Amino acid sequence: MKVNWRSIAAAKNSYAALHAACEQWGYELQEVRRPRPDITCYSLNTVTERLLCNEIANAPCITIAGGPHATACYREVAKYADYVVVGEGEYTLPALLASLEEGKETVPRGVATAAGYEPARHTVLLDGVPPFSTVKGYVEITRGCPHGCGYCQTPRIFGRCMRHRSIDSIAAYASRYRDARFVTPNALAYGSDGVNLRLDKVERLLKRLDNRIYFGTFPSEVRPESITRASMEVLMKYCANRRLHFGAQSGSDRVLRQIRRGHSVGDVVRALDLCRESGMTPVVDFIVGLPCEDDEDERATLDLIRTVTRYGIAHVHYFMPLPNTPLADTRPRRLLPETERYLGRLALSGKVTGSWVDTEIRFFRRSPHL
Ligand code: SF4
Repeated sequence: MKVNWRSIAAAKNSYAALHAACEQWGYELQEVRRPRPDITCYSLNTVTERLLCNEIANAPCITIAGGPHATACYREVAKYADYVVVGEGEYTLPALLASLEEGKETVPRGVATAAGYEPARHTVLLDGVPPFSTVKGYVEITRGCPHGCGYCQTPRIFGRCMRHRSIDSIAAYASRYRDARFVTPNALAYGSDGVNLRLDKVERLLKRLDNRIYFGTFPSEVRPESITRASMEVLMKYCANRRLHFGAQSGSDRVLRQIRRGHSVGDVVRALDLCRESGMTPVVDFIVGLPCEDDEDERATLDLIRTVTRYGIAHVHYFMPLPNTPLADTRPRRLLPETERYLGRLALSGKVTGSWVDTEIRFFRRSPHL
């Protein structure tokens, strides 16, 4: 049975992880640029879904869809894909492939079809699955997030309880690279519940790695309130990165409360000060066009962007509602003309990156091509 993986730039790391998981069951996923028999698998986010749904509907083979959009909208996706892997795929996808190979009439739990859906009864233990094998990817060190930011799909897909890969496992996979980079919702929350940091565990992990370590920078950003004098000391001692990437999202405390960020503007300002004291360049995420903003909130965000860009970089995106999040049914707010003008000016100086005009660019992760 030939099993293919539809090449999608935004889903590179999912391919690495699922390639490794399926390999353990004896299935090798071949990367393809169009659907091919016997089976082609897709990982869909909200933007790539729109580009690929017709291809899947007309594919000359069995199709399996997964990923954040398929998880959030499995009923809709099951109308055009033969099977939908809902949630984490590392156990469910190989189990589905085995059941198709054996010609079983029923599908494993965790797989939706046009006929129905029974949720999976497991969560994935990171130490039980390799982060990658021959298809290289980043080492995922933590999955799940206790925070419930209103625009974010992560806790809705992976749950609000953090699960961590062990230090032994991380060290073994990181040793295959010269530079170690990690996937996690908050690098500084390694080993903790995500709220009460365990810097002792972060330090134990970093001490163990022999590589050049990039921690708290793409793709392992941090939250602003986890940036403290103690955490900065650990980062400066062990890590090669001199940029620290964290999310502020808004310059208005009212908006931060509404979108349930769980931190304040003061936390962001403190994090900026600590970066400056330590010689780290802050790279700070913002979302503009949030539906709960008014003009005053938007101006407060511009003020905070101005502060960030004095000694760092602001990474600004226009809000896009994602399915299965509390903000799913809202609409982005139109930006004030002064906001567009100001961001455009800062972009010319390289102080602002991102896209506050096209909502979809960030979902392509660096490449607009499928
Ligand atoms: S934005 Fe980050 S902190 Fe907020 S819920 Fe998503 S992963 Fe967690």
